[in-house]
Amino acid sequence: MPEQVDLFVVGAGSGGVRAARIAANHGARVMIAEEYRVGGTCVIRGCVPKKLMVYASRFAEEFEDAAGFGWSVPAPTFDWPKLIASKDKEIARLETAYIATLERAKVKIVKSRAVLKDAHTVKLLTTGETVRAKHILIATGAWPHHGAQIAGIEHVISSNEAFHLPQLPKRILIQGGGYIAVEFAGIFNGLGSEVTLVYRGEDILRGFDDDLRAHLHKEMERRGIKIVTRQIVEAIEKVEHGLCISLPDHESFTVDQAMFALGRHPNVSGFGLEKIGVRLAKNGGIAVNELSQSSIPHIGAIGDVTNRVNLTPVAIREGHAYADTVFGGKPTSVDHANVPTAVFSEPECGVIGLTEAQAIDLLPKVDIYKTSFRPLKATLSGRDTRVFMKLVVDGSNDRVVGCHIVGEGAGEMIQLLGIAVRMKATKADFDATMAVHPTMAEELVTLREKTASHVRAAAE
Ligand code: NDP
Repeated sequence: MPEQVDLFVVGAGSGGVRAARIAANHGARVMIAEEYRVGGTCVIRGCVPKKLMVYASRFAEEFEDAAGFGWSVPAPTFDWPKLIASKDKEIARLETAYIATLERAKVKIVKSRAVLKDAHTVKLLTTGETVRAKHILIATGAWPHHGAQIAGIEHVISSNEAFHLPQLPKRILIQGGGYIAVEFAGIFNGLGSEVTLVYRGEDILRGFDDDLRAHLHKEMERRGIKIVTRQIVEAIEKVEHGLCISLPDHESFTVDQAMFALGRHPNVSGFGLEKIGVRLAKNGGIAVNELSQSSIPHIGAIGDVTNRVNLTPVAIREGHAYADTVFGGKPTSVDHANVPTAVFSEPECGVIGLTEAQAIDLLPKVDIYKTSFRPLKATLSGRDTRVFMKLVVDGSNDRVVGCHIVGEGAGEMIQLLGIAVRMKATKADFDATMAVHPTMAEELVTLREKTASHVRAAAE
């Protein structure tokens, strides 16, 4: 007789773990399967280890800047294996904490790949056992892809491997212009690698505000990152002292490591979804309704595998909402609008709401307030850097509908601004808020002069 559960969760990443725990708190018998490590991409090989490495990389500037404030610092040295070991220790601690949280909630954890035998039966591949489940939740995340099968693609790593390199590469190629590419460009550059970023489009971070993209591009170059746009890596050849990178319209160059960050594909294949008829969306994710139910209502899906908004806090919210809906008697949907986000590049970006271009498309009247300034710290450090801030305002009702920041602490700033934007704060509310002086964020409440105003012509 197979074991019976109310909920079987496939994948113990941030979203799956949250759904399992909340469902168990609602009284459900819950089992969760994970084939790798509990914590998933964010905890094990994503946001958390990445941020630790971002911190590590930022010390380089701190040591340099200290001189302007009277400190004399002996030439710093950096020990890559030590960083990796410390980071791994912290990740192991977090994994243990995740496991403990699940166990406290009486969720049964199985370390196995799980495949669907039919719409209510899951098979655990490590033992061959089957489990009968009233509800199944797919939370299997997404997996990096390397694009076309170019010559030498076998030499390319993804960010997954970047967390465990035996040594810091002296020279690294990073291909891609999204979150991971710009974040790792900053990490490796800060730690001392020579970084070349190759991106196929006009400018990095497509989809972000154009001024923010241009500002970050310039700041990254100021820090010594070489950015090559409108190029795609054509071939990679192993040569005596590294990897020779060929671009179609550019001189070839040699690096020690090549990393691609070209996005991720939802993990939808190889566990029987097709067989039981779970429908996929056009973008390759599992198609779900606003309650995260798939085309088979008792099979749910949350997080990156649904390819909606691929961010950890969104997956967590979706997991929580799913558990409340199915086991808490409280149907809950997640609002995917106005999700604040940060790119932990160097310097970092914080963003919420509409870009200037999106607002112009959507709204009849748009006012823009933007500024770029030298932060106070840079006056004594002598660092050549500028902060960028932009508010996008709906001209017909004065609501702030977008905010875009590049500069130290942008991620922290945007988290709080997110509340104001969600509460539909107006530009007048921003203006009425007293500044905190001296901070960088005070600029957001002291932006008095419109820098642009876009009014749609009457005929449009
Ligand atoms: P992104 O989707 O952010 O970026 C992918 C990049 O690769 C784009 O610049 C894209 O170009 C380019 N690209 C895609 N296919 C090809 C190709 N075949 N050849 C050349 N270039 C290509 O993905 P990432 O890998 O950076 O990140 C994965 C996910 O992880 C993202 O969805 C993101 O939400 C999440 N993430 C979030 C973080 C955060 O919140 N701070 C941090 C890291 C990741 P183009 O723009 O032209 O399409």
